[in-house]
Amino acid sequence: MVEQLHYGDVPVPYTVAWSGEEGGAHLAVCPHVHRLAISQPVARGEGKPVFGKPHMQRQREVIADDRCDLCGKSLRNRTKVSLSHARPRANGATGLNVLQVEPLLHKECAAVSVRHCPSLKRDIREGTLAIRQVTRHRTQFAMMSPEYVEQQTGTAAKAVGHAKVELLAWRERDLAWLTSEVSHG
Ligand SMILES: [Zn+2]
Repeated sequence: MVEQLHYGDVPVPYTVAWSGEEGGAHLAVCPHVHRLAISQPVARGEGKPVFGKPHMQRQREVIADDRCDLCGKSLRNRTKVSLSHARPRANGATGLNVLQVEPLLHKECAAVSVRHCPSLKRDIREGTLAIRQVTRHRTQFAMMSPEYVEQQTGTAAKAVGHAKVELLAWRERDLAWLTSEVSHG
């Protein structure tokens, strides 16, 4: 079971990197991707949360295992929400889709996020918050060039970077829907 960590009163998303995990980027076989991937030290809860900066392994973990960005628990058979700004684009094979690096959220976790996250609160003020109820999605892994990987880790090799969520089908929703009473299940 994943423990929900807080910083002050603010729930810290499972994927957020902590200052105690910074530095020391290296290449390792990612346990969540089973391939060589850009990796960093693991010390969740040490130091301060670095909001807006996902931890490499945990970002891949939640996307590969279909877990929630905030609480880290399974999204299976639950209402799934995207709060990403990524825009739909035309893809010849699958029609319109959205490719995003932000993991999906439980509906109630997305509601918690818009209450606490400064950048989402700004989106609400400016009317730019994008809320999507995701009904079909799949996982992709970004393959990074040897040049990029060398910059990050000191070793030149092709390796996996972030995971991405590709939204294949979704419904546009609004804040009233997001913050309405949640039926669990
Ligand atoms: Zn959640």
